[in-house]
This record gives sequence, C-alpha cells and structure tokens, in this order.
Amino acid sequence: MTAPIARPGIMDISPYVGGESKLADAQRIIKLSSNEGALGPSPRAMEAYKALAGELHRYPDGGCTELRRAIAERYGLDADRIVCGAGSDELIGLLCKAYAGPGDEVLYSQYGFLMYPISAKAVGATPVTAPEVELRTSVDNLLAAVTERTKIVFVANPNNPTGTYISAEEMKRLRDGLPSHVLLVIDAAYAEFVGRNDYSAGEELVESTDNTVMTRTFSKMYALGGLRLGWAYCPANVADVLQRVRNPFNVPAPAQAAGVAALRDTAFADLCRAHNDVWLPWLAEQLTALGLEAVPSVANFLLVRFPAGGKDAQAADAFLRKRGIIVRAMAGYGLPDSLRITIGRDDELKLVVEALTEFMEQS
Ligand SMILES: *Cc1c(COP(=O)(O)O)cnc(C)c1O
Repeated sequence: MTAPIARPGIMDISPYVGGESKLADAQRIIKLSSNEGALGPSPRAMEAYKALAGELHRYPDGGCTELRRAIAERYGLDADRIVCGAGSDELIGLLCKAYAGPGDEVLYSQYGFLMYPISAKAVGATPVTAPEVELRTSVDNLLAAVTERTKIVFVANPNNPTGTYISAEEMKRLRDGLPSHVLLVIDAAYAEFVGRNDYSAGEELVESTDNTVMTRTFSKMYALGGLRLGWAYCPANVADVLQRVRNPFNVPAPAQAAGVAALRDTAFADLCRAHNDVWLPWLAEQLTALGLEAVPSVANFLLVRFPAGGKDAQAADAFLRKRGIIVRAMAGYGLPDSLRITIGRDDELKLVVEALTEFMEQS
C-alpha cells in the first residue's frame, strides 16, 4: 500500500515564508518585515469591516460589483475588466492555473517575487529567471530568456524586494518584444507609492493589448493584508478566463466593504503617501551615512546591502531582533548580504536607525 502522491512539481515547492511577527522574549515588537502600510488601515475601512459583523451568515457578492465599481472610479478604469481576488497572490495563482501547465515555462526577473515560482510549480510548469542588471529588471535579459515554451512573464514593478522599477517605455518595449501568445503580468503591488512621471502601473498596456494583465493589492498602501484583497485589470478575454477558474465566492463581504471604504478615503491615502515620501528618503540617507548601501527605492521599503568584508546582514538581523525589531532577511531571494526594511512609523524608524548605528559602531 502506498500513500497518495502529489503531482510532479508540488514537492519541489519551498513553501512561502511570510515576514515574522513574533520574537520569543521581546515585550515590544516593531514589525517591518512585510511592507504593510505604516499607518495601518483607513479608520473608515475598519468601520465598514465591523459593520458587517452581524451579516457573517450571508454569502458575499461573488461578482464584487460595488468594489469593482469603486476601483474603476478611483483609478479611471473599466469595471468590466476588473477581477477581484483573495489577495493578488490568488490572482497570480489563477493566472498560472489557467495559462501554464506541465512543459510550460513561467519567466520572471532574478530577484522577483517568490510567489511566481511557487505558483508556477503548483501547476507543474517550470519557473525560469532572467538576470537583473544592478538589481533592476532587465528587459533585454527577459526577452533573451523567452523560448517557445514560455507562457507567462511576471514583472513586479516596482519590484519586491529590490524597490527598483522600470519605466512605462521599457515595459512597452518588453510587451512589444514578447510573442503575442505570451501573457505579460505586471504586478503593481506598490504602484500607489510611486511618484515618478516616467512610471505607469500598466493600465494603458492592458487596454491596448489582449495579452497584458496588471495585478494590484489592498495589502500594501491600503494596509488591509489581513483581509486578503487584490484585483487584476485584464483584457476582456483574460477576465473571462479568470471568472471561470476563480472560486465563486473568493472575496469575503467584509473585505469587499473595507476595500470600498479605503478607496473612498482619499485623504487617508494622501496621508500614507506623504508619510512614505518623507520617511523613505530619510531612512535611505541615515543608512547611507552609516556606510550601508540603500538601493534606490520607489516603494515603501528599502533594500539595504552590507558591504563585503564589513559587518554582515545576518549579524545585523540578529542584533535588531534582540531589540524587538523584525526586518526581512533576504537569503531566500539570493541576497544574503541584504536586509529589507519596511517604511514604518517615524518612531519605529528612529529606533531602527539607533539600533543599526550601535551595531555598526560596535567592534
Ligand atoms: C505583497 C506582494 C503581493 C501580494 O499581495 P497580496 O495581495 O497580499 O496577495 C504581490 N506582489 C508583490 C510584488 C508583493 O510584494
């Protein structure tokens, strides 16, 4: 007798490890490991969530009608091309399920988000990486890695964990260079934070092609990660496919309601962006002054590199943990010399800088 065996590829998956939130003996935890919005969710989103406590026996609106309308209004998009999911992670998984399988390749950038290889392997496809140049997505290297088996190309823009981005023009060059049967998925999880005029989250490519998808999330700037809420902006043909493969009630009602309220609280969103615009450059400047390399970021986190031959990232991580500060070690992404630090509140960031100053000064 043998136990059931999972399909090929499944046991090759290294399960995703989220940012930690607990330490054994610290009283106060400063969690800067998952890029969750520094100021927490909009108070209006919290109210909308709580207001549904007495309705938990009701199934949600499977079509997310009001939420899609609110997203469309907020970002000037067509509601019919929006598909909502339980986090953008679910949508990434559904795109792999629908467009890739055994023998197919799913291409992404060297330090790209780890959910891409996980989702590819889950459907039996082969994840393939293209080298980055100076920690930035390289369009040339992605195009060079395309084969006749490539089905999907994932580009996080800005990328996590590097924080770097490519311009709208470069993204268009990627799309133009890819075969038309290859689905380009632009993962714009951090789009709300980007303030560069050569950047686009990708909506115009979605609208002008039938093979480009943009995914977005409520987990980062809107700080609703605990609710699991994301969406994809799709050409009509891809939206039709996703509607067929998603679970009929994939987004809980309180998540839909909180999402709508968060979108309408534009003053709070402005506050979150303004906070990031002040504290991201501040943290980069402070860490650079300590002799560390802060990779230029347009998102709400900073990749910090420890110079070769000097103090190392693992020791810094351990030192921070002793002070109750949790950041993200990057060995899992192939960057063992780096830590990724989320832009938190000002008091939290000051304690991080204080601790790292002490760490760098100790002999
Ligand atoms: C956080 C993150 C996501 C996942 O967001 P969820 O909507 O919470 O699933 C997707 N892509 C990137 C690049 C991220 O950093």
